[in-house]
Amino acid sequence: MMLLILLIFLAKAPATQSWGSEGHYITCKIAQPLLSEAAANAVQKLLPSSAEGDLASVCSWADTVRSIYPWSSSLHFANPPNVCNYDYTRDCHNTQGEKDMCVAGAINNYTSQLASYGDLSTAVPYNLAESLMFLSHLIGDIHQPLHLGFISDLGGNRITVQWYTEETNLHHVWDSKIINETLKEFYDLEVSAMIEDLQRNITGGWSDEVPTWDSCSKDSLSCIVRYASESISLACEWAYKDVTADAILGDDYFLSRLPIVEKRLAQGGVRLAATLNRIFSSGIDFSK
Ligand SMILES: [Zn+2]
Repeated sequence: MMLLILLIFLAKAPATQSWGSEGHYITCKIAQPLLSEAAANAVQKLLPSSAEGDLASVCSWADTVRSIYPWSSSLHFANPPNVCNYDYTRDCHNTQGEKDMCVAGAINNYTSQLASYGDLSTAVPYNLAESLMFLSHLIGDIHQPLHLGFISDLGGNRITVQWYTEETNLHHVWDSKIINETLKEFYDLEVSAMIEDLQRNITGGWSDEVPTWDSCSKDSLSCIVRYASESISLACEWAYKDVTADAILGDDYFLSRLPIVEKRLAQGGVRLAATLNRIFSSGIDFSK
């Protein structure tokens, strides 16, 4: 049984870069059981057959198409100047300065595209399976604090640190290292056990605040700006705090930052489900 679980884990959540694949997998696994019937049906219809109905299995797809869709690289993040707040007009652009080409703009765009699902009156000009896979991935990314990190250090990518004995960068610590260390230290590498703990917190310890996670219901962009603002605040308060170039990060950093990572993974999942539920419930026009 143990071997089977491990094989499933290895098959579904390979230990690769970039949140890392485990983070996206966790976010989508939390989201899918929270879908309404209408949203669950739409997701089933839109998923490629290779996903076998499992949204989490395609949650890192957007990272794998960066080379075939070079324009999509800037959609995974947004970098404010060295300030601890997010301003959509100032911060949402790619390196050429094209507006809306950032994680917040992309979430808004794919939300609008998916709102055309089931619209029989017009031919839908989008590949909605790709829209769904982008959206599911990017709602995860916007919750990783350093995807909203400073432009001067490319969200921590330019800050070399030592993670225990290994040289890496601060961005990668938040994408993957903290999650991988957690799986190793507390869950015997069983990602499903970590997901179950997060689900228990959503219905238990965090249940009082969970309704407030999704309290910006009808204006899609205001929700997205809120998620982005939270991330840069957390980046300042936790990710960058007390980290200098070549800092050695070990137990103190890991154990104090882990609760932030856990909550951001859970919030990403809950909000992905809430977003899909709003998109696929009838009567709300999300294109506005
Ligand atoms: Zn990404």
